[in-house]
Amino acid sequence: MFENLQEKLQRAFKNLRGQGTITDENIGEALREIRLALLESDVNLNVVKSLIERVRERAIGTQVATALSPTEQVIKIVHDELIEVLGRDNARFKFSSQPPTVILMAGLQGSGKTTTSGKLASWLKKGGHRPMLVSVDVYRPAAREQLAIVAKSVGAQIYTGKVSDEEAGTPLVERLAREAKREATNFGNDVLIVDTAGRLGIDEPLMDEMRKLKALLNPSEILFVADAMTGQDAVNSADAFHRELGLTGVVLTKMDGDARGGAALSIRNVTGAPVKFLGTGEKPDAFEAFHPDRIVSRIMG
Ligand code: GDP
Repeated sequence: MFENLQEKLQRAFKNLRGQGTITDENIGEALREIRLALLESDVNLNVVKSLIERVRERAIGTQVATALSPTEQVIKIVHDELIEVLGRDNARFKFSSQPPTVILMAGLQGSGKTTTSGKLASWLKKGGHRPMLVSVDVYRPAAREQLAIVAKSVGAQIYTGKVSDEEAGTPLVERLAREAKREATNFGNDVLIVDTAGRLGIDEPLMDEMRKLKALLNPSEILFVADAMTGQDAVNSADAFHRELGLTGVVLTKMDGDARGGAALSIRNVTGAPVKFLGTGEKPDAFEAFHPDRIVSRIMG
C-alpha cells in the first residue's frame, strides 16, 4: 500500500537534499517530481494541482529561520498538505444514542460490500458491541447466502427473514429492513448492519431504494464501499452516491492489491465524504480504521 508513491517522494526529497540550499529552480524541480509521483499514483488531477500550488506558496514563503533546514521545511509542508487533503479529523464512527445504531452499506456489485459488512461486524465485536447483520438484497439469493456465511465466520447474528416472490422488489426490501431493526432491538443487538443490493452501475431504481431505506432506518452511518483498484472510477461513484444519499463515509477495499492509492488520496477532497476504513485483504480482520496522520506518515516514509 502506497509503496510506489513513497519511493518516488523519497527520491524527490533526496534530490532536493542534495542541493544544499533551496532555490526557485530546485524547488520547481522537486515539485515537478512530487506532481508526477502523485499523478502516477492515480491521484485526481485537481487534487494534485491544488496540493502542489499550496506547497509552492508555502515553501517559497518560508525563508524565516526555524530549527528545520529548508529541505526539511518543504518535506514538512508536503506532509501537512497531504493531511489537509485527507481531512485532519479522524472522522470517527458514529453511534446512535438510541440503539440500535444502523449502518447502511452502499456500493456497486463486486466492490466488497458483503465482505466489508462482515469485517465491520468483527471490528464492532472487538469493541464490545453486539452487531446484527441483515441482507436486503432480495434480487440475489446468493448474496444473502454469502452474508450468512460471512456472519457465521465472524460469529455475528444475522436476520434472514422470509423472502417471498409474491412480495417482490422494494416493498419486500423495506419489510425486511423494518423487521431486522425490530429484531435487533428485541435481541439486544446495539448495531444493525444492513447490506444492500449492489448493481453493476449507478441506476435510478438502486438510488431510489437506497433513499427509501435511509428514510425508513434513519442510519447513523451510510458507508459507501468502493474498490480501490478501480482508481478514479471509485472516486466518481463515491461522488455520485454522496450527492444522492449524503454519505457519512467511504470504505476503500482491496488496498492490498496493486491499487496505486490514488482513490484514497482523492475521495475526501473530491467528494467531501471522508474515508473511514480500509480493506486490506479477504479475511475478516484485514480491515483498519483510516487515520489521515498515520496514512501520511506511511506515505512519507
Ligand atoms: P459485493 O458484491 O460488493 O458484496 O462484494 P464481495 O464482498 O462479494 O467481494 C467481492 C470480492 O472481493 C470477493 O472475492 C472478496 O473476497 C474480495 N474482497 C473484498 N474485500 C477485499 C479486500 O480488501 N482485499 C481483497 N484482496 N479482496 C477483497
